Amino acid sequence: MPEPNNKRLDRTIYIPQMADHAFAVGAALRACGFDAEVLPESDEETLRWAKKHTSGKECFPFIATSGDIVKKTQSPDFVPERAAFFIPTAHGPCRFGQYCQLQRITLDRVGLPQVMILSPDSRDSYSSTKGLNINFQIRGWLGMVATDILEKLARETRPYELIPGQTDRVYGECLSLISQAIEGRITAIWKTMRVIRRKFAEIAIDRRVRKPIIGIVGEIYIRSNRFCNNNLVRKIESLGGEAWVAPISEWIFYTNYMYLAHSRDRGQRVDALKARLKNGAQKWMEHMLAKPLHHMLLNAEDPDTETVVEYSAPYMHPSFGGEAILSIGKAIDYIKRGASGIINAMPFTCMPGLVVTAISKKFREDFNNIPWLNIAYDGQEENTAMTRLQAFVHQAKEHQRWTKDQAAG
Ligand code: SF4
Repeated sequence: MPEPNNKRLDRTIYIPQMADHAFAVGAALRACGFDAEVLPESDEETLRWAKKHTSGKECFPFIATSGDIVKKTQSPDFVPERAAFFIPTAHGPCRFGQYCQLQRITLDRVGLPQVMILSPDSRDSYSSTKGLNINFQIRGWLGMVATDILEKLARETRPYELIPGQTDRVYGECLSLISQAIEGRITAIWKTMRVIRRKFAEIAIDRRVRKPIIGIVGEIYIRSNRFCNNNLVRKIESLGGEAWVAPISEWIFYTNYMYLAHSRDRGQRVDALKARLKNGAQKWMEHMLAKPLHHMLLNAEDPDTETVVEYSAPYMHPSFGGEAILSIGKAIDYIKRGASGIINAMPFTCMPGLVVTAISKKFREDFNNIPWLNIAYDGQEENTAMTRLQAFVHQAKEHQRWTKDQAAG
């Protein structure tokens, strides 16, 4: 294992825990000589700090990450001169691109101008931030995709487990194995995927009757973050459904796609070629990581971005950048794979989320009135949310039955 060398930045890089993928990013940074630490999961204290330092009008993911950042600055081991926060940025028809500037302002306001914000940019598909070299990119990518696959395995296994808690225990062990592989000798990740296959194959399950599959699409932070979406996956499972969530890698592939398109538009042929090669290499790595688990998953690999954009073309023009196009395309992909219901999870007032909500009525009509639920989150547990979810899962069960009857007929 390489020796950590803090001199590379002379700061600890703190990574907000949007999802379990943060551990793989932390491992990749440590493998490249940085000191990196994943922040604890968001909680009520996060929201208390966030309320003090935001106006309440910002997007909920910004509020949650700001709360986590300020919460960390209050901990006794926090040294401002030795700290940096890892906040990737993006550009498009929404407010995500302003997060890092606003968080800079927040840190300045709490009297911490010396704290650094490290902000890789989606415009160059996160490739040109100083110090985040090819070694980091390959390790980070392998770790994130391995975590995507591990999550898929857990979500397709847990609803059928015979010993409650067994899937979660195995999942936790496998998550640590992924971090160890990413931080150590990188080729270990291929062996790790085979170990994961063996561990999951040992879980006792009864999958004779498949539960209705609910595809969760929508804004990346909300759909991926357990605290912010009030444990949506667990709630669906407790109501008798199987939840699939659009993977994090979807967004990275989309940034590659946009970078390639912009390079082509500007006639930058070398950049376009580089983007194509990078995308091909990432797709190959994804395929090789998922390969040992194909027979265990209905949902092992996702379609490429071109296909997702093509799926959504009847509803919005490909030039409509951002998450809305991915949500619609991914919903169609899930329906093709057998989903009986779709949830669009979004932050309250999210611009792409509202576009998807507006399209959802027409979308349902086009897909045999498949149950569709739009849920907006703002950090509060709505009293009626569980009732809406119960009714939705019930409709999904009916839809699953109807689809089977149609196929039999
Ligand atoms: S996707 Fe939605 S929540 Fe995220 S920054 Fe854009 S508008 Fe805000």
